[in-house]
Amino acid sequence: MPCTELYQEPPSTPMRALRDEIRDILRSALVAEARRTRDPRAVHRALGAAGVLAPQWPEQYGGRGVSQVAAAVLVEELAAHDVPDLLHTLTVQIVGSTLLHCADERMKARYLPSFADGTAFGCVLFSEPQAGSDLGVLSTRAVRDGAGHRLYGTKVHSLFAPLADRGLCLARDDNDALTLFLVPLRGEGITIRPVPGITDDAFHEIVLDGVYVSADDIVGEPGQGWAIVVKTLAFERTGLDYYVKALRWYRAIADHLESHGDRLAPGQHDHIELARLHTRLLAAGTLVRRVLTRLDRDELGEEEAAAAKWYTTELAAEVAWWAAELDGDQNMTLGDPSLSQVSHPLDAALREAPGMRISGGTAEMMLETLARLRLDSGAEVRP
Ligand SMILES: Cc1cc2nc3c(=O)[nH]c(=O)nc-3n(C[C@H](O)[C@H](O)[C@H](O)COP(=O)(O)OP(=O)(O)OC[C@H]3O[C@@H](n4cnc5c(N)ncnc54)[C@H](O)[C@@H]3O)c2cc1C
Repeated sequence: MPCTELYQEPPSTPMRALRDEIRDILRSALVAEARRTRDPRAVHRALGAAGVLAPQWPEQYGGRGVSQVAAAVLVEELAAHDVPDLLHTLTVQIVGSTLLHCADERMKARYLPSFADGTAFGCVLFSEPQAGSDLGVLSTRAVRDGAGHRLYGTKVHSLFAPLADRGLCLARDDNDALTLFLVPLRGEGITIRPVPGITDDAFHEIVLDGVYVSADDIVGEPGQGWAIVVKTLAFERTGLDYYVKALRWYRAIADHLESHGDRLAPGQHDHIELARLHTRLLAAGTLVRRVLTRLDRDELGEEEAAAAKWYTTELAAEVAWWAAELDGDQNMTLGDPSLSQVSHPLDAALREAPGMRISGGTAEMMLETLARLRLDSGAEVRP
């Protein structure tokens, strides 16, 4: 059964050329090594050296100035090749995009080129033990020290912190206002501990014990942290990452069913389910494309981003659950640890899908955001 990429580029177009260029790089042995170690930094460096790691950024910061929809080709190809993709999401799509849109020129020039060439990496330090959905109650403190600040507090659920050079960190300053800092993670005052979990990429707890952050490493203005984070969260909620994962998992199931086609009669439940999910994937692709186009125009609103995040993560979870149900009678060997992630994307899907409905804002919070914005706008809310 055919299943479409986000955009089916005709041959001899710049987007197809970009996809081919990325595919050539992802055919290298570096990819197998990244899957085995869960450390994709060498893949990032290869993509960065070719200038395709952040193609949507302006050339002066190491990008190619292409649209967000064109740049989605990279995210699709990382998923299609089973490269651990979250370091890219964190570094380029969240930390990098935040700097691109909200930092001053000096800060952009200092950090973006090294994120774009794969020689430096970022992670996100927002959540705390008592502050997740309600980030506004966070308690990490930024205490003035000369021209800079020293940070004290504990951040949790951070992915890829040990590989990152800088963490985008929200903290409360001496005026009790939320300020956004780009914290150095490789020096004094930082302790990073892994937290056990079921996913392939480990969570970490980060204890900030007086780490020094210079005045140059405040993103935007002091006290603007909350406004910037609301914008940042929209970058995280385009739905692109979840959509490409759902597509990857769907294809793995479809390939499996096709190779066992002799067991299935047309019209059987599995075929109907394949068609139903295929239709929903097409709808999700359309939604994501629209959101990315709005992002390009700097018009992406909180409401659309929440809808895209909710729809794509529910769909990805549905595909993963269906794979689990099929496992029983199709012998797909899910749950076999020896196949974990390295060779079997569906095994990882089962462990990754629940977290998708939580990270970057839970499913309930996305629905709450939609309801609130609809009510605020005075729109009719149908039951
Ligand atoms: C895979 C993954 C990766 C992550 N990566 C990072 C990272 O890199 N950096 C980082 O800082 N954090 C990260 N997080 C943390 C994530 O942002 C939080 O887990 C999330 O915001 C939820 O916060 P919480 O876990 O404290 O749950 P809580 O906020 O305590 O929520 C618990 C439950 O209550 C519900 N709930 C809460 N408030 C409401 C409400 N007002 N209305 C209705 N229901 C509500 C929630 O939906 C949820 O079901 C990650 C999480 C996951 C799963």
